[in-house]
Amino acid sequence: MHADDRLAAIRDRIARAAKLARRDTADVTLIAVSKTHPAEAIEPLLAAGQRDFGENRVQEAQAKWPALKDPYPDARLHLIGQLQSNKAADAVAMADAIHAVDRSSLITALAKAMDAQDRRPTCFLQVNIGAEEQKGGCAIADLPALIAEARTADLPVAGLMCLPPADTEAAPYFALLAKLARDNGITGLSMGMSDDFETAVMIGATHVRIGSALFGDRPVVRTPTGFRKRA
Ligand SMILES: *Cc1c(COP(=O)(O)O)cnc(C)c1O
Repeated sequence: MHADDRLAAIRDRIARAAKLARRDTADVTLIAVSKTHPAEAIEPLLAAGQRDFGENRVQEAQAKWPALKDPYPDARLHLIGQLQSNKAADAVAMADAIHAVDRSSLITALAKAMDAQDRRPTCFLQVNIGAEEQKGGCAIADLPALIAEARTADLPVAGLMCLPPADTEAAPYFALLAKLARDNGITGLSMGMSDDFETAVMIGATHVRIGSALFGDRPVVRTPTGFRKRA
């Protein structure tokens, strides 16, 4: 299947899930997660009208996106990966949205960079929804304080973001993120990936982040315990 056929199929599945949930499909932004994929794989999607893209590494995004954006100035770049505070200025300079804001030190660094550059990408606060040690995101108990801090620092908080635990039913975690958003007066929900985006849409996702279902599998990397798809 060609990239534009895959895109049409994914958009169709999003639209069907939205309709079932009595939602407007226009309220769901499809973020095409293009990390690890070269410009040649991304261009056909731009040509087919896709405008929101996700990358998880600042350096990789810096290498690929200026040239891609040149003919498509309305393309929007979402940084979806863990962000080090020392990359905050680069992230603010380049991104239209930052999805993994999860701690005070990062909020401070982003606010400082936004003030200096007079540029304010929208921010999603990442929640460690399954309380997993190895995952980024703030603890659920710390979320209200983090939201308050982000608002005080004038970060444009657009929503909450999560990555549910692997190999388990995602729906309860999506529902929990939606509840946390409601409880805190937040409307955006960045949740749902290739394997579970329809579930996420039915539970209220406003941004789904889809990589492999659009681009095919990412390269496999060797780890101390075996092999896995590159994150
Ligand atoms: C890679 C990645 C995705 C996309 O994952 P797929 O399973 O390939 O759709 C979504 N969100 C984040 C944060 C990612 O790092």
